[in-house]
Amino acid sequence: MMFDSDLRKLLIRAQRIAIIGAKDNPGAPVEHVGRYLLNAGYEVMPVHPVRRQAWGLAAAHSIAELPERGFQPDIVCLFRAQQYCEGHAREVLALPQKPLLFWMQEGIRSPEAGALMAKAGVAVVEDRCLETVHRHFFPGRTETFSCRRCGKCCEGRGGIVVGPRDLPRLCAHFRLPPEEVLVRYTERMAGKTVLRCGEDGFCLFFKAGAGCSIHPARPSVCRAWPFFRGNLVDEVSFAMAREDCPGISRTASHREFALEGMRYLEEYRLKAHDIHTEGRALIVEEDELPRT
Ligand code: SF4
Ligand code: SF4
Repeated sequence: MMFDSDLRKLLIRAQRIAIIGAKDNPGAPVEHVGRYLLNAGYEVMPVHPVRRQAWGLAAAHSIAELPERGFQPDIVCLFRAQQYCEGHAREVLALPQKPLLFWMQEGIRSPEAGALMAKAGVAVVEDRCLETVHRHFFPGRTETFSCRRCGKCCEGRGGIVVGPRDLPRLCAHFRLPPEEVLVRYTERMAGKTVLRCGEDGFCLFFKAGAGCSIHPARPSVCRAWPFFRGNLVDEVSFAMAREDCPGISRTASHREFALEGMRYLEEYRLKAHDIHTEGRALIVEEDELPRT
């Protein structure tokens, strides 16, 4: 049996999830869970023997096809009846690299698949919903920040970088292929792809009185604000951000804010590493944080 603390750590470590039995069926559990995981910042690969795509993402036809698609899953999440689980476990173990977790969704149990995985050193979860467990571990609130949805941070051109991890989420949201999303909603600025603004100077997706109209699919920089590198490492930037953003706690110290911000970025996989395609604001390391 796995302790919840270990499971939580694995969900933080994992970046990529293959969803076996993925399909675009509004209202179906797999649709809900797939979109939730995308929105939670995971890189998701739908896998289905017949369907060519799900949630705007091109699907792999089998687990065996994942390596040629350049996708090494950290979690394999099964939406398949019990009798198929053992076969899928064997397919997973034939991959060049073993995943961290083999996850059978709520209502699915397979002692045979579990035994194969356990023998190979892969953690197994049975009969639990990945979305429910993730929501339980990461409820999305912090002590030093709580958004008031005033929209001040949605104004200004060029700041909302759309990185490689954001595009699949937008595709899934709009049910459009990447080329179409890029043409309709983005432009290139300073060598990066960014969301376009309307004539009022606000992001295309900001609706006065209603806030962000694509909130579940918004890019990583929007998810991360106000925990931007500048605000985490520099006290003056933090003080200025607090002047502008009413969601930042008036009483938190810079260090409290920075430590919590770093935890938040890590838990939600928002930290970036590629300065050429991702937001510079998301590239930050532990040793840059204030010490006192
Ligand atoms: S400025 Fe702050 S409180 Fe207002 S919408 Fe942006 S993050 Fe939320
Ligand atoms: S995507 Fe949403 S949160 Fe981000 S800038 Fe646009 S309206 Fe604001």
